[in-house]
Amino acid sequence: MSATAARSPAATEVDEWLERFGEALEKDDAGGAAELFAPESYWHDLVAFTWNIRTVEGRDGIKDMLEHTLAHVKPRDWRATEEPEVADGVTSAWIAFETETGRGSGHLRLIDGQAWTLLTTLDELKGHEQGLGPRRPKGVVHGANPERLTWLEDRQREAEELGHTVQPYVVIVGGGQGGIALGARLRQLRVPTIIVERNPRPGDSWRNRYKSLCLHDPVWYDHLPYVKFPPNWPVFSPKDKIADWLEMYARVMELNYWGSTIAKRARYDADAGEWILVVERDGWELTLRPKQLVMATGMSGRPHTPQFPGMERFNGDQHHSSEHPGPGAYRGKRAVVIGSNNSAHDICAALWDHGADVTMVQRSSTHVVRSDTLMEIALGALYSEEAVAAGMTTEKADLTFASLPYRILAGLQVPVYEQIRERDADFYARLEAAGFQHDWGEDGSGLFMKYLRRASGYYIDVGASELVASGKIKLQPGQVDHLTEDAVVMADGTELPADLVVYATGYDSMNGFVADLISQEVADKVGKVWGLGSDTTKDPGPWEGEQRNMWKPTQQEALWFHGGNLHQSRHYSLYLALQLKARAEGIDTPVYGLQEVHHTR
Ligand SMILES: Cc1cc2nc3c(=O)[nH]c(=O)nc-3n(C[C@H](O)[C@H](O)[C@H](O)COP(=O)(O)OP(=O)(O)OC[C@H]3O[C@@H](n4cnc5c(N)ncnc54)[C@H](O)[C@@H]3O)c2cc1C
Repeated sequence: MSATAARSPAATEVDEWLERFGEALEKDDAGGAAELFAPESYWHDLVAFTWNIRTVEGRDGIKDMLEHTLAHVKPRDWRATEEPEVADGVTSAWIAFETETGRGSGHLRLIDGQAWTLLTTLDELKGHEQGLGPRRPKGVVHGANPERLTWLEDRQREAEELGHTVQPYVVIVGGGQGGIALGARLRQLRVPTIIVERNPRPGDSWRNRYKSLCLHDPVWYDHLPYVKFPPNWPVFSPKDKIADWLEMYARVMELNYWGSTIAKRARYDADAGEWILVVERDGWELTLRPKQLVMATGMSGRPHTPQFPGMERFNGDQHHSSEHPGPGAYRGKRAVVIGSNNSAHDICAALWDHGADVTMVQRSSTHVVRSDTLMEIALGALYSEEAVAAGMTTEKADLTFASLPYRILAGLQVPVYEQIRERDADFYARLEAAGFQHDWGEDGSGLFMKYLRRASGYYIDVGASELVASGKIKLQPGQVDHLTEDAVVMADGTELPADLVVYATGYDSMNGFVADLISQEVADKVGKVWGLGSDTTKDPGPWEGEQRNMWKPTQQEALWFHGGNLHQSRHYSLYLALQLKARAEGIDTPVYGLQEVHHTR
């Protein structure tokens, strides 16, 4: 805009609000600042104010948070960074601000001059900025120096020293996409880090999954930090292709990635303020002493296999879906797949393609959405080719998403799924006519809320539903009672003859890994990982407001969890990395609203 151009009423509204807000904050007037919010209002803070990931609600919640944080955060210089938008009576603006320690940005929604939602994110720490763009490293030191190390020699020196003569500040346990993305962020922030991974190569956690697997999320949603997929990348990455990308990424991002290394046991030495972590590397035990330990062991990493009487007698093959080798060996065989969510559908379809006789056992209802519909109606505005063409960036899409507090997200999702229900009415009618038990989530909020609440209970349809609807994949409702030598027997007595049984029965909470690695006591101390406390199936209340334990301080000092899908891993790795960097630099990080533990699993 030129200096003489008239400011829009929306820009004036936002500027005036920010000015009053900034003045109240500078005067330490928590109550006055809170009064600028609507009675129903939400402030989602990613590390900038709280050194935590936290949503506070209503004027009282906001006032309390400010009373505890203002004195040390010292926020200032609030400004809008773009022309605000107005839709349906809501004025939305992208904003920026500073604190004593960092620079932040965010998003504001005003209704009738009062704030309805505010997002604040810490983007960088002053004096510890990432070497990006204008700050990129030079890569070479000109001039004469007989002691000069080449880039390669320097990398080799680092690899020889780190973990041996020099201790890493952070160890990340698990080198899947989560550990790799966080490792890349920490590398840019110059935090000495080792990633330990049981498998030999980056990407192996995808390679080891069933043969037919392709990502369920489209490419626009899946970018890693710093390095975007090229424009010829397929919409849905085949699993071995994404694995190769991760391997390439780990190498070019210069990660200290210890493959074929198992984290075996760990204990926190509170006096020394460090972990004593024993790892087995190439058959040798080695002790690492990092100050911070991050579990990036995967939400889909600890298989949950139910125990049925007679399993030990069964003569055929049986395994959890995570160990399913693919359909190759099962042509002409009878396969029973227990479960009816994503993995079950994918595995059933691949087995059917390869000439197996397939039965899916549906134990409870499942939410199904056709992939095309999901992309168009649910994701398209933020993550699609059209969104990119309209100027949407990955970072802005992630922040737009983060600007919607979880408390209101479910309500906003309901109409999306009503639209999907209407659009694909024939599809759902055929599926239900085949006896498939279908649901839309307990409050009709659909797939994404199921993911956030319990990370299960749905299938993104890429073709298996048609096989179910047409009866090509047979459907067996009910509960399994026991197995015999050659069959699965249901509670109603129905026998399902089987040469293969696949338990597509999901995964356990990530704190189970803590029990294995550290102790049951510490696993119980940090409690359940994932879920919002929505008081729906597998996500018991009370309301948490954020994902339990993810990307933020836990009840165990210096223990963190990282992971989620590619979007979450990309987005939240920044905020976790900044929390770790601040600690590495000795910056004071008083945590507001450390989560309480209500459930141990
Ligand atoms: C069938 C299926 C389909 C999926 N589709 C998608 C999708 O389309 N998009 C998406 O974003 N997500 C998808 N997911 C979710 C997927 O699990 C995660 O997105 C992704 O794998 C999580 O990455 P992660 O790094 O958190 O965990 P993982 O990839 O599970 O990596 C964890 C790593 O920790 C290692 N590890 C565990 N314990 C130790 C130890 N003690 N010592 C050393 N190493 C250890 C494991 O070997 C593993 O490599 C899918 C999951 C499944 C099962």
